[in-house]
Amino acid sequence: MQSNIQVRLTPAEAADSQSLLKAICQITGKAQTSIAGYQILKKSIDARSRQQIWVNLTLIAFIDEAPTKRFIEPIHFPILTKNAKEVVIIGAGPAGLFAALECILLGLRPIIIERGKDVRARRRDLAALNKEGIVNPESNYCFGEGGAGTYSDGKLYTRSNKRGSIDKILRLFYQFGADENILYEAHPHIGTNKLPHIITAMRAQIEASGGKVFFEKKLVDFVLVKDSIKEIITADGDRIKTNAIILATGHSARDIFTLLFEKNITIEAKPFALGVRVEHPQAIIDSIQYHCLLRDPNLPPASYSLVEQVSERGVFSFCMCPGGIIAPAATAPGEIVVNGWSPSKRDNPYANSGMVVQIDIPTAFTYLKKQDQQNKKFANSIVKDFIKTDAPHPLMLLAFQQQVEQAAFIAGGGLQVAPAARLIDFCTNKLSANLPDASYLPGLASAPLQEVLPDFVTRTLQEGFKAFGKKMKGYYTNDAIVVATESRTSSPVRIPRDAETLQHPQVKNLYPCAEGAGYAGGIVSAAMDGQKLAQQIAVGYGISIPHLL
Ligand SMILES: Cc1cc2nc3c(=O)[nH]c(=O)nc-3n(C[C@H](O)[C@H](O)[C@H](O)COP(=O)(O)OP(=O)(O)OC[C@H]3O[C@@H](n4cnc5c(N)ncnc54)[C@H](O)[C@@H]3O)c2cc1C
Repeated sequence: MQSNIQVRLTPAEAADSQSLLKAICQITGKAQTSIAGYQILKKSIDARSRQQIWVNLTLIAFIDEAPTKRFIEPIHFPILTKNAKEVVIIGAGPAGLFAALECILLGLRPIIIERGKDVRARRRDLAALNKEGIVNPESNYCFGEGGAGTYSDGKLYTRSNKRGSIDKILRLFYQFGADENILYEAHPHIGTNKLPHIITAMRAQIEASGGKVFFEKKLVDFVLVKDSIKEIITADGDRIKTNAIILATGHSARDIFTLLFEKNITIEAKPFALGVRVEHPQAIIDSIQYHCLLRDPNLPPASYSLVEQVSERGVFSFCMCPGGIIAPAATAPGEIVVNGWSPSKRDNPYANSGMVVQIDIPTAFTYLKKQDQQNKKFANSIVKDFIKTDAPHPLMLLAFQQQVEQAAFIAGGGLQVAPAARLIDFCTNKLSANLPDASYLPGLASAPLQEVLPDFVTRTLQEGFKAFGKKMKGYYTNDAIVVATESRTSSPVRIPRDAETLQHPQVKNLYPCAEGAGYAGGIVSAAMDGQKLAQQIAVGYGISIPHLL
């Protein structure tokens, strides 16, 4: 017999199989000899009570019957037939890769065009970025096989369950090598050390099935005839004929936004978020969240999620990485962009998180106009051209984002040295006399961040941090640092698409996809969007969509 039960245990009990068995016996009323095994379906930690932290488990107990191992039937990827129709996918990020896998399941041949290098070659460029502060504009934390997802933190948590099947994405990650625990943890996490192997396994499957993947091949132009793209042109001069294009180039491909704009293909400015990354010693976050001096070794490094409304503007934490590292995520020299990652064990002594403020179009427009009237120098001269017009320009927020990143570069003093301040110093407009040890490898320079960030962003962050300090006692401390800029949480541009056909309204065979087009945020939602577009293209070819899972 199998029985679905819920168990609440202390962290030490949850880590000990004998204690867990005892709890199962108590709940089922069966003797220990009857419990042949168990399988965890869901696991979460409840740290709300100051008296006791609980681990909540939902599990199947196998009573007087042999336990079965968790069996996730592998999804079978067929070998494509010679006459399979081709779909050109620009970008091998999560969206591009999952679109390609979905194409194969639907009998379509994916042809992936990726500007960056494969996972292994890319690693050398990341080493140069971290050690010497050299940014290769074609191979960095955002560009290359697996896109921004490969050397990301690999948190697989998303709230966007309306966009597709989260389970299917998790099952595919598991099939290609992720640990089983992503299938039941409340906040699944893969870790940066494990992602590259998974991405490589996905590519191997795409190629084994007859799909094609090209690296160091950058889309630079296309031939538009009436309302369709007939050919795409790559930087090496190749011309590739196409009937359907999934454009999954991510939010850092600024040249793609510019290309579309110059070709008179509609794009729109889109609100995005901007701020800093804050880093605390992990021990501080553990002691606040777990109400203790030292973390119980049976508990994972603690995380947090914070949000506050300050003068009608939202400030919120984003992509929190317990036991993590702050990464240099710029895609061009002369700008500073930071993000965060952590290894699967989350065993670094720091806890970092993005802390960002929503930037809407009118506020950005007014801010830039005011700056211009005050004869402020713009790091990016394009901004000045844009604000001369009365209506906000589609690339205005992108230029605004770039301007702040460039200001951070100047304040850092060169290479990838990032400007930073101690947290209370930042909130009280003081220059930090010195900075504590930090995880960011290219180095930090103490700098007045209020001269880097727009004033309304600085003010909102300052009030936000003070409010967070009231919610989490000990959070507002000068042992923490803030580092600028966290500017690539979301795309400042939207590439519109028809809600039903998912095609661009002007270009019928162009399918704008995922984060860069403004339809996803994060690995899982980008992957789901890629799958959705592959299915839509298949429907256009008269292929019926089977219920694959
Ligand atoms: C350090 C870091 C940590 C992160 N941590 C997390 C996390 O824990 N959880 C989470 O959900 N998200 C995380 N993210 C964000 C996540 O990686 C992105 O949301 C996701 O990768 C977006 O997927 P995408 O496929 O839409 O775009 P991308 O991943 O950006 O992929 C776009 C691809 O297109 C390619 N490309 C661009 N222009 C061209 C061109 N002209 N021709 C050919 N190819 C081109 C790029 O090289 C890139 O490979 C993190 C990001 C970073 C940088």
